Amino acid sequence: MAKIICVLYDDPVTGYPASYPRDGLPHIDGYPNGQTLPTPRAIDFEPGSLLGSVSGELGLRNYLESNGHELIVTSSKDGEDSVLDRELHDAEIVISQPFWPAYMTAERMAKAPKLKMIITAGIGSDHTDLQAAMDRGITVTEVTYCNSHSVAEHVLMMILSLVRNYIPSYNWVVKGGWNIADCVARSYDLEGMNVGTVAAGRIGSRVLRLLKPFGVKLHYLDRHRLPDAVEKELGLTHHTSLESLTRVCDVLTLNCPLHPETEHMIDEKALANFKRGAYLINTARGKLCDTNAIVKALESGQLAGYAGDVWFPQPAPKDHPWRTMPNHGMTPHISGSTLSAQTRYAAGTREILECYFENRPIRDEYLIVQGGHLAGVGAHSYSAGDATGGSEEAARFNK
Ligand code: NAD
Repeated sequence: MAKIICVLYDDPVTGYPASYPRDGLPHIDGYPNGQTLPTPRAIDFEPGSLLGSVSGELGLRNYLESNGHELIVTSSKDGEDSVLDRELHDAEIVISQPFWPAYMTAERMAKAPKLKMIITAGIGSDHTDLQAAMDRGITVTEVTYCNSHSVAEHVLMMILSLVRNYIPSYNWVVKGGWNIADCVARSYDLEGMNVGTVAAGRIGSRVLRLLKPFGVKLHYLDRHRLPDAVEKELGLTHHTSLESLTRVCDVLTLNCPLHPETEHMIDEKALANFKRGAYLINTARGKLCDTNAIVKALESGQLAGYAGDVWFPQPAPKDHPWRTMPNHGMTPHISGSTLSAQTRYAAGTREILECYFENRPIRDEYLIVQGGHLAGVGAHSYSAGDATGGSEEAARFNK
């Protein structure tokens, strides 16, 4: 019998939904690279229901308990008196979502001698100290591709909302105004702009593909170059340095994982190389950027806008400066947790658990760390080390 701790975000303030705006979800055949959707033996939830919050339990309780395992589901994750810290001592598996991450630091792993696997129900395992997991032989997995397209759609929405000055214009309507000049004095067309992505993996390449019909010039930086045919089809310019990319881009979107190579890649020095009035969209990870450098760049006009849904730490303290900086379009971390994405990552989490308990191999594409090394997607997209430093600040949200 194994003990599994599942850390999920809280239910809606109005309570767990009794109904949804739509019935069911559209059917998707598979992912563009031929990867199949998650293939658990069964699911015990209604596709399209809220699975990522505490009462949704990722649809796992029936499966785990009927196989004799213990499931603890909680949103209490930060600070030494959290349920997560209290329950860790005999846990075998910890599951959490990047939206409400259980920061699995080396200290926490040291408190959990039976810990064998950490599952990210989503994509992005930077909330786990990957170096400590390697050192302790703990497996780290994520549900690769489950929400890559969800995020790409969000990136597109945020690019358009910044460039067209959507949020302030919407606010004039809500305030009862009709202030055309106030709205359009910051509004441009996207057509003709140079748009670049840092990383052209699953999300980044989808973003490039979605942007193509807008008549923009497309650029990317990635440590793995895309095939020639894709570069030609999309008319991409490949860059080998951040400086060369930022020098030409009117809009830059960040789509790489957070790991020691990418932590704070957008700092004051990097921002000085941006075109004046560039827009920066970051739905990848908050810590890719230096928090105060972003605020300063918005205040000086070096950036015309910043939007995204990722912060560090999460939840962001109430006084986090990104809540109040000028010309931002921030939301809480939501882009990868649509009801559509939740169905896929809940099913993927179940698939990973079934493989683990039945001693079947976990798909290579779900592996980040295994057997003391970066493995699978982890070896392709991450670098060794730890990016969880400072995560204890998340406890301040509740104070
Ligand atoms: P992916 O593994 O398909 O792509 C990652 C890409 O980043 C790879 O092509 C890799 O070569 C590139 N990369 C890694 N280090 C780099 C570096 N130093 N410089 C340039 N490129 C580098 O992953 P994905 O599905 O595209 O997701 C990317 C990231 O987006 C995740 O790791 C996660 O942090 C974030 N994400 C956010 C949300 C959300 O809800 N906001 C959801 C999913 C993923």
